[in-house]
Amino acid sequence: MNFLADTHIHTLASGHAYSTIDEVLREASRKGTELIAITDHTSGMPGGAHDFYFMNLRILPKEMYGVKILTGAEVNIIDYEGNIDASQELMRAVDMVIASLHPPCIDFSDEQTLTKCIEKVMENPLINIIGHPGDTRYPLDFERIVKKAKATGTLLEVNNASLKPDSFRPGVRESLVTMLGYCKQYDTEVVVGSDAHIFFEVGELSESYNLLKELDFPAELVMNTNSDRLVSFISEKRLK
Ligand SMILES: [Zn+2]
Ligand SMILES: [Zn+2]
Repeated sequence: MNFLADTHIHTLASGHAYSTIDEVLREASRKGTELIAITDHTSGMPGGAHDFYFMNLRILPKEMYGVKILTGAEVNIIDYEGNIDASQELMRAVDMVIASLHPPCIDFSDEQTLTKCIEKVMENPLINIIGHPGDTRYPLDFERIVKKAKATGTLLEVNNASLKPDSFRPGVRESLVTMLGYCKQYDTEVVVGSDAHIFFEVGELSESYNLLKELDFPAELVMNTNSDRLVSFISEKRLK
């Protein structure tokens, strides 16, 4: 299993990340990553980027230093109805969107409430990836989530940063094992993202790689193994 893409990267524009787009791309090139997505935090996150930042991402070239670029955003889910802090216009302006539950944008809650919320989010045709669903502070019924992901063409993320020993998200590994078990059972695709907040974390997906390998997770269900397939999977949902 070879990971050729990294779909979750923050730059200076996120407000609590420390590298430029140029630094991110140079690092991706150095590591031989074929494709990256730049997914800064939207304005609901303290210090997140203004809407105009995302609208103007179209000025980026499609490729730099031999690395293909997808423009993106990591939007905040702001209530249990599945509403988010970004306009349709913003989400249409970028190539792909990750939607995530983050404090302080939404309070922790129970499994039933949050599962319904994420199901609603996945129905949004402009949302491609659910970011770090393994966060146990926001518990989910993974059987329902995995089925809904399959039905809506949404990718569930294996977030590499959350799996690191110093992660601030406790118990992630166990909850991802449960999620990936259902993904295998229901033939549901996942995507791995570094969630890099500084350049040297770009393309660094080893914790996720080790977990997937340990679980003998099918490579064909991991979108990072084929960047062309990843791009067409993402655009297919958006065309609906
Ligand atoms: Zn996040
Ligand atoms: Zn992130």
